[in-house]
Amino acid sequence: MIESAHEAMQKSVVFMNCPVCGSVRHKLRHTFRGGYQTRVCEGCTAEFLSPRPTPQAISALYDEKYFNNDARVGYIDYAQERGSVMATAHRRLGIVAKHTQGRMLLDVGAAFGYTLEQAALDGWKGDGVEPSTYAFERMQQHASHPFNGTLEEFADVIPYRQYDVITAFDTLEHIYSPKDWVSAAYKMLAPNGLLVIAAPDRNSTLGRLSGRSWWSYKVPEHLTYFNQHSMERLLRGQFKIVHSEPDKQVVSGEDMHRRADRIGGIEGVIASIILLGLLSRHKNYTVPNGMRLYIARKVGA
Ligand SMILES: [Zn+2]
Repeated sequence: MIESAHEAMQKSVVFMNCPVCGSVRHKLRHTFRGGYQTRVCEGCTAEFLSPRPTPQAISALYDEKYFNNDARVGYIDYAQERGSVMATAHRRLGIVAKHTQGRMLLDVGAAFGYTLEQAALDGWKGDGVEPSTYAFERMQQHASHPFNGTLEEFADVIPYRQYDVITAFDTLEHIYSPKDWVSAAYKMLAPNGLLVIAAPDRNSTLGRLSGRSWWSYKVPEHLTYFNQHSMERLLRGQFKIVHSEPDKQVVSGEDMHRRADRIGGIEGVIASIILLGLLSRHKNYTVPNGMRLYIARKVGA
């Protein structure tokens, strides 16, 4: 018997209840190519991908192609983003530094280590966790204790390290089980330690205005779409949010010119003309990115 595409998909996907609060009450929001859907939790308002690929299929996404490809998933050429990633990390770490004296930092989802490279320049002592082996090989030179795996695995293997700060920039939306992830972060932080998250914000102006075409709907790699309310729900009992603000990204004029060139066709030509007229290649620009930056303090033990 020939199985239908729908049957084949059902065998290799997972149907979820809310990964933030566990509620079984959730409504369809959008349907995407491949039959993937996002649903909105009626309890905590988190939006999440369900059905979604299995955890094994998700891990397999993050190979070399993820960091060098046609940008349907991942990045066209992640190495070219180094300047922008470092400048954005510098901005975020400057905000974090106002909330703690400690300088022992663990960056989770460290990718090629650009955040760690910047952290070292800014006076932090940094470790990094990165599940992709391809990225880990590039990251390890920037970390005192580099780890190739997930945060949950790291917390199992090295439970005694106590960090002042754990950063997760552009990471939590990729995590299969955010509750387990938060518990692992809790274990790895010193008393009063800070968990710092930058994640797409469903309630951002960009998120609300762009509907189904929101840039952050990277399906199936982005699994949960938070807002302030669902983030508070996720952290409840373990962390208290002490600061939150709309996040911004620092991009160079050079980056923007390169992006305009890549658009191609007549739109690319028009975009290039506009950008060439307005943007210097030699300046940095700080722009809203539809994300939110959260600084949360560990409570209890
Ligand atoms: Zn929920």
